[in-house]
Amino acid sequence: MKQELISIVVPCYNEEEMIPLFYKEMEVVRKLLSAEIEYIFINDGSSDETLSVLRELSKINNKRVRYISFSRNFGKEAALYAGLRNALGDYVTVMDVDLQDPPELLPKMFHLIKEENYDCIGTRRVNRDGEPPIRSFFAKRFYRIINQISETEIVDGARDYRLMTRQMVNAILEVTEYNRFSKGIFSWVGFKTKYLEFKNQERIAGETTWSFWSLLKYSLDGIVSFSEAPLAFASFVGIFSFIGALLMAIVIMSRTIIFDNPTSGWTSLVVLILGLGGLQLLCLGIIGKYLGKTFLETKRRPIYIVKETEKNNC
Ligand code: UDP
Ligand code: MG
Repeated sequence: MKQELISIVVPCYNEEEMIPLFYKEMEVVRKLLSAEIEYIFINDGSSDETLSVLRELSKINNKRVRYISFSRNFGKEAALYAGLRNALGDYVTVMDVDLQDPPELLPKMFHLIKEENYDCIGTRRVNRDGEPPIRSFFAKRFYRIINQISETEIVDGARDYRLMTRQMVNAILEVTEYNRFSKGIFSWVGFKTKYLEFKNQERIAGETTWSFWSLLKYSLDGIVSFSEAPLAFASFVGIFSFIGALLMAIVIMSRTIIFDNPTSGWTSLVVLILGLGGLQLLCLGIIGKYLGKTFLETKRRPIYIVKETEKNNC
């Protein structure tokens, strides 16, 4: 029987230090697997020597190591998409290069997906030790909120690290939206998924590219991509303040007619004007966010642009 192939998709952004460490670790795991492996590294427009490291690696082992180098930094989501698009395997796994996604889980994941007929084996961190507490706090809130307002379940602590069948990968490739929120897309396509739990691992070398603000922006993008609740909120605020205004008008008019006592003072007016003005701008902002996303989608720009692959490197 032909041996099955697992494609390992690894996005890399300024990871010159990590790639050799990752490769070494992964090669140990490879020997424990009963399947063949291909690596697909994606150089996401790194400004360090990541590309040279990848060229070197694919020269040494050009049967197994492939790479795709982008023309600029397109972000991890684009890198994942490029990897999935180019993977040839019967199974595909996506994994961070910083060893925060433990490669040693892979044999177990492969065993489960084959023996227990799952379509996907995902991984979940059970703790967030080693992460700044403020980041953990907001991450927890984010998962609570998005799961309340979105129909797509986003599992708390789930990593992008997962092993998927070809069928599931093809389904993900059908989702060609420009604003990609993979955590949502993985779950949106459905299929039978089991989550393995593991303890948080700290990055071995290099630095995380996520600042607090970029994470905040990422979570807002996730909400906009997978929920229309903010739009409903905008209409709700509108209806609510309209009813409020109507009640106030009745109260004021009755006071004037019955007690001949017009409301005095400008404080109430200023508060009303500022309050309502603020709410209007907030709602406009929410609509603007969705409009902006729609604008980007309708342009149908490519999700990534390739500058070089291992085929240029022979
Ligand atoms: N990454 C990428 N493009 C980017 C940012 C990150 O391909 O613009 C890759 C990075 O090289 C790593 C993975 O995505 O393999 C996760 O990044 P990081 O470790 O910075 O994120 P964290 O683990 O802190 O969430
Ligand atoms: Mg990391």
